[in-house]
Amino acid sequence: MRGITDPVRTRFSGVNQITNRRLTIDDRRPIQGRHTEFTGEQKFRFLCHEKLACFNRCCRDINIFLSPYDVLRMSRKLGLQTGDFLDRYTTRLLPGGAGFPVVLIKMREDADLGCPFVTEGGCSIYDERPWSCRMAPVEIRGENKYGFAFDSNHCRGLLEDREWTVAEWMKNQGIEGYAKLEKGFAPIQTRLRFTGLSSLDEHIREMFFMVCYDLDRFRRYVFESSFLRTFAVSDETAGSIKHDDLALLQYGFKWLAGDFDLRKSMTVRDEVFNK
Ligand code: SF4
Ligand code: SF4
Repeated sequence: MRGITDPVRTRFSGVNQITNRRLTIDDRRPIQGRHTEFTGEQKFRFLCHEKLACFNRCCRDINIFLSPYDVLRMSRKLGLQTGDFLDRYTTRLLPGGAGFPVVLIKMREDADLGCPFVTEGGCSIYDERPWSCRMAPVEIRGENKYGFAFDSNHCRGLLEDREWTVAEWMKNQGIEGYAKLEKGFAPIQTRLRFTGLSSLDEHIREMFFMVCYDLDRFRRYVFESSFLRTFAVSDETAGSIKHDDLALLQYGFKWLAGDFDLRKSMTVRDEVFNK
């Protein structure tokens, strides 16, 4: 999606169809759309710009999942504490009613169900837009397997001539740094175990949500309690995570996937949040 001045995995769904312009397609080229699949080495055609009839239309009535790094970047862009950002702009869901929570942008409740950040001129947080919005319309469908989240009657950019490989597209959209920054996120869900007891599992979910998404709350948890002593955090690490958001995020991933201890974490939680 394009911004004001410049230009999911299956993270996109529920898009409206746009039919306000006739298709004019070069018959020698295959029509691109949801049916299209390509590898990282193959080229796809796409260009998003404000002259397209669909400009901004994909920023409505859509599920946009946010990663921990997205939440951090967007909240800082808006000058908000992570908790305030989450309360104001997001919805938390439990896939299948259990497991770990996921975070989505809360669409406006007007007739258009627009994203709270879309304006007539484009995305108002373009520089810090989420991963999903950067990747669109490309979605990841497997190991070195990609496709499109939209059809060309919705996404007119798929009718444009500009060619990209996935790597070129990701570089253009500034996505390259995400993998390194969020490398520690994936192991958490395999290493953090639920107990089968609902109150304890609720605590585990709250810890996961706080550490991964509500970083300012996690900072309070670490620095306004016995956390540093309880979990034997070195002075060097404590110094680096005190003011550095990215260092704290990565420390949190590592802590959840490695040093997390249910009983100790509950004691620390009570010291800080149940005073
Ligand atoms: S964050 Fe920006 S690009 Fe993404 S849906 Fe909202 S307005 Fe569109
Ligand atoms: S529908 Fe496609 S071309 Fe149109 S604004 Fe969205 S991403 Fe760009």
